[in-house]
Amino acid sequence: MVLDERVELVVASGKGGVGKSTLTSSIAIAASEAGYRQVVVDADAEAPNLHLVLGVDEWDSVEDYYEGRTAYILEDKCTNCGVCYEVCPLGAVEVVNGKHVINQYICEGCITCSINCPENAIRYKFNVKAGEIRVKNRTSYGFPLVSGEIVPGRPNSGKLVTDVKNRAYKIIGEKGLVLVDAAAGIGCQVISSLTGAHLSVLVTEPTPAGFSDLKRIHKLTKHFMIAPMIVVNKYDTNPGFLSVIEEYAKKENIPIIGKIPYDPNVPKSMALNKPVITEYPDSPASKALKEISRRIVEEILPRWREFRMKYRPKRPEPYIPVIVKPGQ
Ligand code: SF4
Ligand code: SF4
Repeated sequence: MVLDERVELVVASGKGGVGKSTLTSSIAIAASEAGYRQVVVDADAEAPNLHLVLGVDEWDSVEDYYEGRTAYILEDKCTNCGVCYEVCPLGAVEVVNGKHVINQYICEGCITCSINCPENAIRYKFNVKAGEIRVKNRTSYGFPLVSGEIVPGRPNSGKLVTDVKNRAYKIIGEKGLVLVDAAAGIGCQVISSLTGAHLSVLVTEPTPAGFSDLKRIHKLTKHFMIAPMIVVNKYDTNPGFLSVIEEYAKKENIPIIGKIPYDPNVPKSMALNKPVITEYPDSPASKALKEISRRIVEEILPRWREFRMKYRPKRPEPYIPVIVKPGQ
């Protein structure tokens, strides 16, 4: 099946470890079996793991991702006055053997040190390698996978996610499904994942933390005018809190498209680098995952415009970051 335009579906959650990658792989396999033209994106640049779930151990292409700048000190000009050490907001300046040096993993090139250096002893390296964009042209499940990984300590993983998505757009062209496995939380990577998306699956668990994080990620989808749907993982572990999520979903006009029971076969399949739906197809979680994926592939995607009109917010939610200052 070829969608008549490029449709982007993001699997997201405010909280980590709730089963996003397991669900994404299940949707991707179901879409592939239904004949969808699709590209799958692992947009968790700080901890990409979708390739592990899909058993990808070799990439067809790996492109370096360059970004930003880092500062370094000219030893012959530096008098070790310590001003840069004092002013660096990130604590990137260190004293090693009595000399001031800049930790390249911590520095974000903000230029505070060079503005304040009395000896003009600080210079910058530009276009530092900050990560990689990796492509598997065809996984063993039949679809391409694009994944990004940021170098530890480098900033702007959100920009890397944007570049990873752009790489996926090049592969899929103007028509087809772009299925994105977002990072957990509501940070810049998630904002990049949600930018331009049409639909989102919000994965949560029936716990106070899961519910709190669901509301935060939902607020973000409202800002981007994305039609959400909810999947509750391990729904049977806390029936009292499940009803809290159900009430919230009803009030906010979000369909709950499935509930996945707790199932020890899920971690077992992850240990084997296999999707649970292929390794333990008759397990309780697999049955739920297959039904959720079937709903998305057979009912929602073919009529995604209607779904979007029905469930997306009427107006964008303002998204104003709250700045908490020390002592407040
Ligand atoms: S502010 Fe300049 S001179 Fe002082 S320690 Fe840093 S680099 Fe050296
Ligand atoms: S550029 Fe900014 S982050 Fe880097 S060492 Fe200087 S003050 Fe610190």
